[in-house]
Amino acid sequence: MATASLTAEYAKSGKAGCKGCGKSIDKGELRIGYVGKANFGATAWYHYDCLWADTDSLKSVDASKSAKVLVQNYDSLKGEDKKKLDKDFPKFCKEASTKASKAEPKPKSDLAAEYAPSAKSNCKGCSKPIGKSTLRVGFPGKANFGATAWYHYDCVWKESVLLAPIDTSQSLEETVDGFEKLKNEDQTKLSSDLKKNCKAAAEKEPPLPPKMAADYAKSDKSECKSCATKIAKNALRVGFTGKANFGAVAWYHVDCLKKCPQEYSKGIKADTPLEELVDGFDKLNKDDQKKVEKEVKALASPTGAPKRKSEGEESAKASPAKKGRK
Ligand SMILES: [Zn+2]
Ligand SMILES: [Zn+2]
Ligand SMILES: [Zn+2]
Repeated sequence: MATASLTAEYAKSGKAGCKGCGKSIDKGELRIGYVGKANFGATAWYHYDCLWADTDSLKSVDASKSAKVLVQNYDSLKGEDKKKLDKDFPKFCKEASTKASKAEPKPKSDLAAEYAPSAKSNCKGCSKPIGKSTLRVGFPGKANFGATAWYHYDCVWKESVLLAPIDTSQSLEETVDGFEKLKNEDQTKLSSDLKKNCKAAAEKEPPLPPKMAADYAKSDKSECKSCATKIAKNALRVGFTGKANFGAVAWYHVDCLKKCPQEYSKGIKADTPLEELVDGFDKLNKDDQKKVEKEVKALASPTGAPKRKSEGEESAKASPAKKGRK
């Protein structure tokens, strides 16, 4: 992490405004600033007490170093101010970085559950409205615009295709967004129904091979889902149909394909003919067909993607990796 560089001084005039509270800093008052963080590379100044409140900036300060090392001009400060800094610096920097690490977004859960805040949502299963305050269960990101596809509690268990891939060996708090806010009796009910239904779904629905596509990019407007850089016009790209917004193809550079989410590649078998699996495969030139085949088959082999640890998967007949049999 790049360490922010700071400076301190007694304000030479009363003109500088504090970046924290927006008020001016009096002439002669101790002020602390981030060098180069204001417009035109100027120092972003703060009242001494306001500096600590801006934890967003403070978290980039290396809390393991002393104020003497971190703050330019430290030596010219009055003894009492040095003492104040020595004490406050490590304390507040540490607090800010702890706060920052806690605020990191957690990965998307497989499911969400809550009491419907209004009666406006319709169940994706039976299409009937879900009553206000009724317990509803949903799949985050499965509705338009990445929204959650909500279901009546009893309707959700019919979606075996969506339930089958859920890893029930994880804790419910991890699997179900909002779980901890449910009433105790609903937590118990959900926990047992989820285990039961996901298991049944997994048995009933052996993972279907995904729908894939490959072509030469018609424009330079598509972006690789893995490296997030643009895919050049006419460049070879491979993707998963229906995995982008509005059911569009989630495209990848052919070399980035191996970094696709594991759930996308579920169901790919090493012996599935590429012409069947990948839409547009036959239109690629021979060299590119070979490239695509190699990357797609790598997804199918057990070494292709790091396997998620979950109990009982060893015995699964899910992916018989048939290797180059003639
Ligand atoms: Zn201030
Ligand atoms: Zn329903
Ligand atoms: Zn890429």
